[in-house]
Amino acid sequence: MTISSGFGSKYGRKIRRKYDNVTQGYKFKKLVCPFCGMKKVTREASGIYECLYCKKKFAGGAYEVETRIGKTIRSSMAKKNVKELEVFLEEETKIEDKGEKEEKAEKEEKVDKKEKKQKKEKAKESEE
Ligand SMILES: [Zn+2]
Repeated sequence: MTISSGFGSKYGRKIRRKYDNVTQGYKFKKLVCPFCGMKKVTREASGIYECLYCKKKFAGGAYEVETRIGKTIRSSMAKKNVKELEVFLEEETKIEDKGEKEEKAEKEEKVDKKEKKQKKEKAKESEE
C-alpha cells in the first residue's frame, strides 16, 4: 500500500509514482546527512535541510536531500579545491626556497668579504 493508492486510478500512473517518491522520500525515510553520514536530517522547507547531529543547514533538492547534479558539482568543487591547494603550496615552497637561497648567498658574500679583509690585513702586517 502506498499513499497514492488512495487516489485509485486517478491522475495517471506516472504522476502517482512521482507523488509517492516525494512524500515517502522526505516524510518517512530517514534522511542521510551528506556531510557526516548520520540519519538525522530534517526538512525545514522546500530545498532547505538541517542536520541535527552536525548542526549544518544546507540546500538540497526540493524533495530530496541531495540531487544528482548537486552531487557531481560538490565532488568537482572538492577536486578543484584540492588542485588549487596543491598549486598554492607549490608556489609557497618555491618562494621559501628562493628566500633561503638568497640568505645563504648573502651570508657567503659577507664571509668572503671578511676573509678578504683579514687577508689584506695579514699582507700589510707581513709587509711591515
Ligand atoms: Zn550532519
